[in-house]
Amino acid sequence: MRTRRRLRGGAAVNTDVIDNAPALPNQNRKMYKLTPKCQCPDPATGKACGADVVKGTVFCEQHQDCPMAPRNGCEKPYRPELYNKDPAIYKSHNCYSYAMSVIDKRNIASCRKNGNSNCRQFFHQPGALHGERFALNAAERRKCDVVEKLIMKDVPEVTKSSFYQKCPINKYKIALVSDDGEDYHFYKQDADGYWSHKDGSNKVKRYDAMKQPIFNPQTASRDYRWQGSDLNYESFCGFYCVPGDREIPLGQGGASRRQKKMAGGSWTDRPSKGTRRRASRRSAMRRLTRRH
Ligand SMILES: [Zn+2]
Repeated sequence: MRTRRRLRGGAAVNTDVIDNAPALPNQNRKMYKLTPKCQCPDPATGKACGADVVKGTVFCEQHQDCPMAPRNGCEKPYRPELYNKDPAIYKSHNCYSYAMSVIDKRNIASCRKNGNSNCRQFFHQPGALHGERFALNAAERRKCDVVEKLIMKDVPEVTKSSFYQKCPINKYKIALVSDDGEDYHFYKQDADGYWSHKDGSNKVKRYDAMKQPIFNPQTASRDYRWQGSDLNYESFCGFYCVPGDREIPLGQGGASRRQKKMAGGSWTDRPSKGTRRRASRRSAMRRLTRRH
């Protein structure tokens, strides 16, 4: 049921076939090459050059002096401990919360009350602040244009940018990507120019799907399939400047009855295949019984 397009080709990053990569745990198993690619963007297109990296760097031989995305001093220092030291924080905050530099007391309190379990239900969701709490519960809406509109509704000062464009003063840069119809994901630029992110209820980190430092989220690896996941955030939606001089209010999403999969998550957050099968059997039954 969920195999519809997982293994389609044409991804920009790191999906070449090799012989000795770990096998995927589904019937469409395919091997994926584990060679990190150069993260230096072409100044005109923003795309990667496609060459392998020189070991110990994130660039190919030709791009060792690649210029970094500019900063304006509004970027926050990388401090993973703000989220990672407390399970009630990291289990109840997702990539969206982290990109917007939000630590929400309500999320922490709700998560603690729940014994630090099932705290994904308290995740912030784009749109939730202004009445669109369940906007992304329908998986098919998890794609660039929809999520972009929702974050701009949540935070009207958000503006579009590019890798080499400097953000206006008092703003820092984030990036939005998507695995269309499955999930969205955010990254943010830190004070040293590198990028960090938080996938679902996991801890904050600074490496990409190939365990490389993130110099540029557009050219970094976002394909988690070699790890046994079904996620490949292959759509790059864009860079955005977001306010860094004030606290940004965000709204909590929530699981509707039929859509238990939370957006802004990660593959380790996703229900097991068995759970999904049971859920879809249940909804099929419901459809049948409703007819009578
Ligand atoms: Zn290169």
